[in-house]
Amino acid sequence: MSERVYIGLGSNLNHPERQLNDALQALAALPDTRLLMQSRFYASKPQGPQDQPDFMNAVCLLETDLSPVALLKALQQIEQSQGRIKKRHWGERLIDLDILLYGDQSIQTAELTVPHKEMATRDFVLLPLAEISPGRVIPGMGSVETLIAQLEQTFVVPWVALDSNQSA
Ligand code: ATP
Ligand code: CA
Ligand code: CA
Repeated sequence: MSERVYIGLGSNLNHPERQLNDALQALAALPDTRLLMQSRFYASKPQGPQDQPDFMNAVCLLETDLSPVALLKALQQIEQSQGRIKKRHWGERLIDLDILLYGDQSIQTAELTVPHKEMATRDFVLLPLAEISPGRVIPGMGSVETLIAQLEQTFVVPWVALDSNQSA
């Protein structure tokens, strides 16, 4: 049975917008999977060490027949193929793909926690999620809008691509 799955994407190295676009293409090409929606790209300040470039984040919606673990492995393969090298905790990376929501399932295993354990407090997840799924309730955490209202501050802004062909 297919499930609707929200994926969080993040990058802050080597042309982040290209990394996000490449990852979205790879997600759309996964077996038994369709890319249904994607948010705009958002610029955000790094959460961990501050001596690293700003991040670009997005959230997308997939419909997939892959099991949660099979999907996690597929995400890790995409990360590897885009050359992800983990340098330090919450540090810079080419691409990070997290499973935010898998249907309305709650999953607690050694390798997978769904809903993603930090999503309720992360502006760079909540804002793009609210864009593509207004009113979405995160099991056990509340609606995305309620969670956004509970943030003390947000540091994310929609990122607008400068289109050189477009005149003012
Ligand atoms: P954070 O989890 O705080 O966003 P991170 O994305 O930097 O941190 P990673 O190094 O990418 O962390 O992942 C560490 C481990 O998290 C992975 O090996 C994976 O098994 C596990 N993990 C647990 N829950 C999830 C999830 N919902 N999506 C992706 N990975 C998960
Ligand atoms: Ca992450
Ligand atoms: Ca991750």
